[in-house]
Amino acid sequence: MTVGMIGARKNTTKQHWEGKPTGSPDIERARQTDMIALAQQYTKLNRESVHEWSGPCPMCGGDDRLHVKGNAWFCRNCAPVGDKGWHNAIDFLMMRERMDFKTAVATLTGGNNSYTPPVRIRENQAEPVRQAEQSPEWIASAQAIVSTAINGLHTEAAGYAYLIGRGLLPSAWRAFDVGYAEHQGRPAIVIPWYRAGKPTAVRYRFLQTDGTERRMMYEPDSHVSGVLFGGQNVLSTMAKARTLILCEGELNAISIYQAAHHAHVDVLSFGSETARLSPAAIDIACQYQSVIVWADKSDIAREKANKIPGAIAFASPEGQDANDLLRADKLGGVITALRVRAARSDEQKAGIVWDIWDSHRADGIDAGSIAVARKTAAQLGIMEDWECNTPMTTTAIE
Ligand SMILES: [Zn+2]
Repeated sequence: MTVGMIGARKNTTKQHWEGKPTGSPDIERARQTDMIALAQQYTKLNRESVHEWSGPCPMCGGDDRLHVKGNAWFCRNCAPVGDKGWHNAIDFLMMRERMDFKTAVATLTGGNNSYTPPVRIRENQAEPVRQAEQSPEWIASAQAIVSTAINGLHTEAAGYAYLIGRGLLPSAWRAFDVGYAEHQGRPAIVIPWYRAGKPTAVRYRFLQTDGTERRMMYEPDSHVSGVLFGGQNVLSTMAKARTLILCEGELNAISIYQAAHHAHVDVLSFGSETARLSPAAIDIACQYQSVIVWADKSDIAREKANKIPGAIAFASPEGQDANDLLRADKLGGVITALRVRAARSDEQKAGIVWDIWDSHRADGIDAGSIAVARKTAAQLGIMEDWECNTPMTTTAIE
């Protein structure tokens, strides 16, 4: 590649997905570029399977977000698989080097095929980018983003209208420091991830997309690998008497918190289905009386639950995730039923009944949870006077 080509780069990220001319032999040849060789000039790849490799994304980081196979690639954060499938080498250079389409094709096909990127992976980056912690400057700037966004949520109707529309209440979104801001000109819910009280990532969840734009995005240099979302709300000293739900996605975690936190349930999110549970995450889970791993797909839930002794796996029923169930007013009942299923002794089941009875007395609880708790109490032969202790006449849900 020549210096002149670098000079030709423009801010063309937006046209990344569309307007690709077709037909020219050069374009075809550029599309056939070996993506593994190209990506390896930017990042360290590890083998995922016979043909597929993964590694930190040269655009947005992480440990294994970038996936590469043959002449195709995707990043599960900044360039997910789209309607047209995986992306090609032209897309890669347009995004990574901000080249326009023609420049990317010329770069990939010019002269010989030994394209050398302007920034080579440094020797000491041979290991995946895995900072223990961000710089104090990054942390300060993330904290500023988060606190501005929390204020934005109080003042901008679009933000709280979105959350309320999702069935989420202020007590829940405040517990997670959720905020609202315009990010890159688009309204977004702002969701921080913390480790040991310090932000490690800031995620933007855009209120609308037109289908070609990204739905979610991280603040650059965010770090979620090996971090569990929601750790700030976990009462680990009480873990032995509590249930832990490990789930996918931040809004699901916030939904579960809202539905069940008051009944001795903690929730942590591992992020996306492809994220791995770190040894530290497994250690945390092992401290709990029972653990439920909830993912959209049953094989993902099972694969993660298998790493935690005694954990049960649960897949979103009929594709309804925790937030869908919250909005349908079914989440509390589903969680209570799962807790009973995960309990390993009658004593643990009785504890769950008491949790529900307790939070019912304290601040009200959903009818579904009460129905499950009553049924369990009847099976255990306890709480025969439940009726007279519960002033609420539930039209019990079965
Ligand atoms: Zn990426």
